[in-house]
Amino acid sequence: MTIPGFAELRACAHVVSIPLVTPFRGLHHREAINFDGLSSPAEWSPFPEYDDAEAARWLRGALEQGWSAPVTANGATSIRVNGTIPAVSPEEATALIVAAGFPHTVKIKVAGPSSSLADDQARVEAVRKALGATGRIRLDANGAWNLDEAEHAIRTMEHCDIDYVEQPVEKLADMAELRTRMSELGIGVAADESVRRWSDLDAIIESRAADIVVIKIQPLGGVSASRILIDKALNAGLEVVLSSALETSVGLFPAALLQASLERENPSALDAGLATASFLSRDVVTQPLIAHAGELTISPPTLDYSALEELGASPERTTWWLSRLERCLALV
Ligand SMILES: [Mg+2]
Repeated sequence: MTIPGFAELRACAHVVSIPLVTPFRGLHHREAINFDGLSSPAEWSPFPEYDDAEAARWLRGALEQGWSAPVTANGATSIRVNGTIPAVSPEEATALIVAAGFPHTVKIKVAGPSSSLADDQARVEAVRKALGATGRIRLDANGAWNLDEAEHAIRTMEHCDIDYVEQPVEKLADMAELRTRMSELGIGVAADESVRRWSDLDAIIESRAADIVVIKIQPLGGVSASRILIDKALNAGLEVVLSSALETSVGLFPAALLQASLERENPSALDAGLATASFLSRDVVTQPLIAHAGELTISPPTLDYSALEELGASPERTTWWLSRLERCLALV
């Protein structure tokens, strides 16, 4: 991969601010730079609060997407994805399941700042009722519980038949202890933030803290870097779930291709968390990667210039992003 200079990047950069349909991580807008890359459109969208070192790793992913040999779908036309239910009421959760066409697998956000355990339980029960007995449920607590809270909450919702809980607690030692305490329940523990931010894969394997690791392509530095981690995880007997970082369809595309490879290699590969474009009020490509009934059709991104224009960020935010880009490029 040839690393482009800042002038080249700036010349093909579109800074956008996209209103979200539902607030996510406390955000109401998703900001991103979409590039007209040399080999493909590319996305760089580290969350605003991340420091330059972390954002530079996301930039490696963006540069790989836009400035290395283009990757093709290799015959794959669609992938399997989960639906996602944010911290909404049971009625809204049911409506989202219906709108998503009853996906086979649903991930439900729990342990949010404005959601009590009773709220979480009501939401999870509503999803189980909407999905019926065969639907699969995974929870995501984003590390918000402590060890005892996690055990209590999971036992409270265990009757809803949960496959696994993503990042129930923050510390690896607590995740490992929780796995031991819950061993008779048959509910897995997945590491998400632990893989990227709070620890790393070697430590997770070493401490037996998880059954599953969540892999996010752009935050981990791109497809090649992610593939190395995936192989390491699979060799250690863990399962992997590819997931998005709430990207536009440009940033979702390389992850969708990687999911297609994982499904080809293993027909029972877990459903990916890549059906997140529907959280954006508008996308930046002509054919957004919108899932239906748990299937997402893969289409290579073609930038929609009128959307980029309409979604253009304010001059202040554009300046902020371009100066962040220049600083982070020096760290790549
Ligand atoms: Mg997560």
